[in-house]
Order: sequence, then structure tokens, then C-alpha cells
Amino acid sequence: MDFDPETTLSLAGQDLDDTFNSVLPPLYQSAIFQFEDVGETKGYDYTRSGNPTRTALEDTLADLDGGAGAVACATGMAAVSTVTSLFDADAHLICAHDCYGGTERLFSHLAERGTLAVSYEDLSDRNALADAVRPETEALWVETPSNPLLRIVDLEALSDFADTHDLLLIVDNTFLSPLLQRPLDYGADLVVYSTTKYLNGHSDVVGGAIIARTEALADRVDFTANAHGTVAAPFDSWLVLRGAKTLPVRLRQHETNARAIAHFLNDHPAVGRVCYPGLSGHPGHEIARTQQNGYGGMVSFFVDPEQVDVRAFLGSTEVFALAESLGGVESLIEHPATMSHASMAPDQRDEAGITDNLVRLSVGIESTDDLRRDLDQSLTAAGPETSSTERQHTSIPPVEA
Ligand SMILES: *Cc1c(COP(=O)(O)O)cnc(C)c1O
Repeated sequence: MDFDPETTLSLAGQDLDDTFNSVLPPLYQSAIFQFEDVGETKGYDYTRSGNPTRTALEDTLADLDGGAGAVACATGMAAVSTVTSLFDADAHLICAHDCYGGTERLFSHLAERGTLAVSYEDLSDRNALADAVRPETEALWVETPSNPLLRIVDLEALSDFADTHDLLLIVDNTFLSPLLQRPLDYGADLVVYSTTKYLNGHSDVVGGAIIARTEALADRVDFTANAHGTVAAPFDSWLVLRGAKTLPVRLRQHETNARAIAHFLNDHPAVGRVCYPGLSGHPGHEIARTQQNGYGGMVSFFVDPEQVDVRAFLGSTEVFALAESLGGVESLIEHPATMSHASMAPDQRDEAGITDNLVRLSVGIESTDDLRRDLDQSLTAAGPETSSTERQHTSIPPVEA
């Protein structure tokens, strides 16, 4: 039988233990596996090259995304780094101008060392894209929705473009997870995840994954991850798989809450533009409606600096925790300009539209009403009627994500 994702996740790893028939996948916390005889194993010899607990996670992730194979990595950045090692030495890459800060940092680092050339482009601008292609261009690196402004790009159009120019289409699908978007269905070649976020969902492990469309690409990714040693540890794999089992129900609550928050903020007089792909006025909403199965739990918005002291606001929430990252059951609030996107050069931040009055939320699975009331009280606490002595000022020093 072919199963829906809810069932695939619930059954994941159930057939792994022939010795005691444990229903949950066993944690094979072992670096080594005995040979049956010289040259003969039961499929595993050394955990960097393969581990049954990791395989259970990888098979599940490949299944959810409709890929030929997957590799679970130590972190999301280990997954990104592994993908960069698939390219030729003089490769050129076209990347979304508003990609994840850590990805930009790695690409820029490789560019400085002369091992990878990267152009950052607005991927919805077809002319800019066509101009950016060079003979040595190998891939297009996409994030949709993007971080933090949740810009949407048309995957099918990018896939056509990639085919025309013989480029690999690589999609970082961390913000949605395979339940809300399956890039391989739209022609992507590789999908990358930080499983730290929605897939694990409990903010208690860092992890990553790469899903490949074809067997041949899956083999190359597998070889590269083993060679570079970027693979996930058994316990981390076990935690991500355990977390992923509840992804479908978590996502439903994330989305219910995110929609309610987006509408609440949209109607709030002290809030300017609200970025949420589920809002009918969001640029790209129509594309999101067709290529996504839902709109996810991320919301960002601009507060009116005349009406709200953004630092006071960020320091006044009682449910939303002031923290980076996203995709966990707990709601988080953060200030992209000084937190998640602090490592971007100021002019690049300006170009990407990341101003000081921008706030990003990772909306959790708490009571919808509590989340709404929390934002309401904290916007009021940071408003002009509240004197500065009443406010609890938190200073936000720049940090590196
Ligand atoms: C967090 C994140 C990463 C990096 O993942 P880590 O697990 O922190 O290494 C990559 N891409 C996106 C979109 C992310 O949100």
C-alpha cells in the first residue's frame, strides 16, 4: 500500500527490530558493527558510512519528499556544506538574494577562498537570472518562502529555467517541510533541510538532511557525506524521527495560530505590512496557493516606529520567547536586523528589505488566544502611552547565528 504522510510517519521505523519486535525504531548507539566473515556484513560496518537508526530517518524523509534517496546530516549547515562539495572546483552558483544567513556566510566564505563563485539574485526577476548565467554555472539555490520576508518564488518556472540552462535546482525547504511543499514534484533535483526546525520540532537537537530526486544523485550525496563526515549521529537521528512523527498535527496548530496572528497584526493600528503567504494580499500568495499544501507557521511584520518602540516590544512578550531559530512547539520572536540576519552586510540587509522595525515570529502550538493577547499587551506596553520608565528595556546586542 501507498500511504499518506501521516501514516508513513506513524509507521516509520516499526519494522527495524527483528530481535524483540520493538514498535519504535531502536537507537543503534554504536560506532561499529561486527563482520559476519571477511568482507561480509549485515549491511553496516561503521556509523559514519551507515547506521540503521539513521537509515530509518533517511528512508522516511526520502519517502515524504518523493525522492530516490536521502542523507541525514549533523546540522542544516552540514547539509548545505555537503551539497557545495558536489560541484566542480570552479563552479558558479546562483542563489536567492534573501537566502538563510548561514548559507550566505558559507557561500561567501567559499567565494573568498576561490572555491565557489556565487551570484545573489532576485529569483523572481527572469532577466536578472538569465544575465547571471555563466558557462560554469552549475546550480540554482532557492528558498521559498524566503527568510524573513516570506517571499514566494515559482518553483515550476525556476525548474524550466534550470532545465533550459542545464542547472541543478536545489531548494532549501526548511520553512515548510515536505508536508507543506514537495519541491521534487515541481522539478527540483535536491531538497535541503535544517531538521532542527519543523521536522524535529522540539528545539532539542540540531540536524539536517538532503533528499535527492534520482538514484544517481542520491549516490553522489551519500558518497560526499561519508567522505566529508557530515552525517547525523544515531541519537540525533532517533530524536528527529521521533519528533517528525507528530509533524502533521503540529503543523496544523502552527498554521491555525499563524493565520490568526497574521490577521490580528494586519488589523492592528501600530503594525504596518504583515508578511504571511496565507494573506490574500501577500505578494506571491497565488503561487503559494498552488505549489504549497499550507502556509506554515512563520510570520513577519513591520511595526510603526512612530507608535512602537521595537526593543521594548521585543522585551515585553510573555509567551513568545526572544530567540532565534524556528519551527519548534514554542513561539519565538526575534529581530532579524540584530539577530538572525546580523551577519549580513548592512547594504545587503537594506537591499533585502530587512529594516530595524522588522520583527519575525515563529508561531508555536500554544493557545491561539494566549498568543494574540501576548502580542496585544506587548505592543501596548511598547506604545507611546507607556512611559519609558514603565518599560522594561532589553538591549539587543548583535549576535552571530
Ligand atoms: C536554520 C536553517 C539552516 C541551517 O540549519 P542548522 O541546523 O542551524 O545548521 C539552513 N536553512 C534554513 C532555511 C534555516 O532556517
